[in-house]
Amino acid sequence: MQELTRVVVRAQGTGELFQLLRDGRPRTRAELAQLTGQARSTIAARVDALLASGLVQPAGEASSTGGRPPATFAFRPSARVVLAVDLGASHARLAVTDLAATVLADHHETIAIAAGPEVVLDRVAALGAKLVEQAGRSPADLVSVGVGLPGPVDHARGRPTSPPIMPGWDDFDVPGHLHRLLGVPVLVDNDVNLMALGEHGTEFPDVDHLLFVKVATGIGAGVISDGGIRRGAQGAAGDLGHIAVPGAADVLCRCGNTGCVEAVASGRAVAERLSAAGVPATSATDVVARVRAGDAAASAAVREAGRTLGEVLATCVSMLNPSVIVVGGPFADAGEYLLAGIREVVYRRSLPLATQHLRIVASRTGGRAGALGASVMATQHVLSAEAIDALLA
Ligand SMILES: [Zn+2]
Repeated sequence: MQELTRVVVRAQGTGELFQLLRDGRPRTRAELAQLTGQARSTIAARVDALLASGLVQPAGEASSTGGRPPATFAFRPSARVVLAVDLGASHARLAVTDLAATVLADHHETIAIAAGPEVVLDRVAALGAKLVEQAGRSPADLVSVGVGLPGPVDHARGRPTSPPIMPGWDDFDVPGHLHRLLGVPVLVDNDVNLMALGEHGTEFPDVDHLLFVKVATGIGAGVISDGGIRRGAQGAAGDLGHIAVPGAADVLCRCGNTGCVEAVASGRAVAERLSAAGVPATSATDVVARVRAGDAAASAAVREAGRTLGEVLATCVSMLNPSVIVVGGPFADAGEYLLAGIREVVYRRSLPLATQHLRIVASRTGGRAGALGASVMATQHVLSAEAIDALLA
């Protein structure tokens, strides 16, 4: 008879062992030994180190078939905090969260990103320090900062790359500047990638393939594949806004090309089209307000924009085979009309296998997606196996 094979996770050090506990499920020393194939004494020493750090805590006793029940241990997300920063063209949203993206204190205010990096980031650091205090935590509890910016970002270096709406920010050392003020590692990414991370990490943690589409003044997407964010070679993966759509060859886009999906289906494009037809609207917000007020012309225009977006997303479905497409951003507040247009085309144009279990849904995190994503990114950095080993060293 064939021997039953057991899946052995190779846990090299304490940092790797900690990864097994990240899901929050309580486990016994014996379970950890079995999962890793390591000796009980090795596991015991490593669990002790994690308990001493506060990152792991006792989680009661496991049920026992006889004798003394064994103790269990689980991840303790409240052990440290991170600062999450979501910067837009005209707003800043900051949150101090625990290591499971639970918001402990937050703040929202109007800023002008065009005021330049020093002004904006100095303000962010001052607000961040105040929020840590407001959350009832000491500055020493802060272990990292995640920042989302409204433009292209070289994630590895944390620097914006020729961002169109951020004068003075090109190639600015955002991590260096904030690190000098707050003294902890700083991670930076574009706002859409962070919205994808935030929605995925908090609402769809068990979904490995997810596409987050932001529909606002511009259109962009964040790609989660095999459970992780995919940024591409230059960080431009998911930049859908300038893909050409059929029947729009005469529509000029702000990028200089014609026929881009953004020039036809963004909130601003729909507002302009409605205005031209005698229905006054200047922004996505105006269009959404008209849809909510029951304006038939606005609803029809939004549904048509959804169909146009659906043409592009059908191609994405063929390329990436996501199981969930989340539609977010201010224009997504137009709700079912936009989703209905998207679904209509995606389900018609994609192969049945790709859409068999595909869900196309509205964002559940709404305006908080970017800040939650900044928290997820900052947390992933400090809880990696290497970071845990360095912390315990
Ligand atoms: Zn364009």
